[in-house]
Amino acid sequence: MTLIEIIGFVGSGLVIWAYVPQIEHLIKEHCSAGVSRRAYTLWFIAALLLFIHAVIIRDIVFIFLQAANALLTLTIIVFANKYRNGICSTHKSGKDPF
Ligand SMILES: [Zn+2]
Repeated sequence: MTLIEIIGFVGSGLVIWAYVPQIEHLIKEHCSAGVSRRAYTLWFIAALLLFIHAVIIRDIVFIFLQAANALLTLTIIVFANKYRNGICSTHKSGKDPF
């Protein structure tokens, strides 16, 4: 593995890590307050298109990154739909749970 690929995978890891609080909040609190299903749907479609592009140009970092982006945005869409009207006590009180 080259240094450039290592840098790319570290960056990809940070992207994945950034999704964790949102997914954790959705699943634990059954709360979708502040989640834009429209935005996540567009990010999911974008991730799929970029994944196809990455496969065609055979870029292992971007294949991994866009597969993760697609999977994680889809996870948020599924749980945001499941808990469409869910709101936790923290969001009800107007505080930021993150
Ligand atoms: Zn909440």
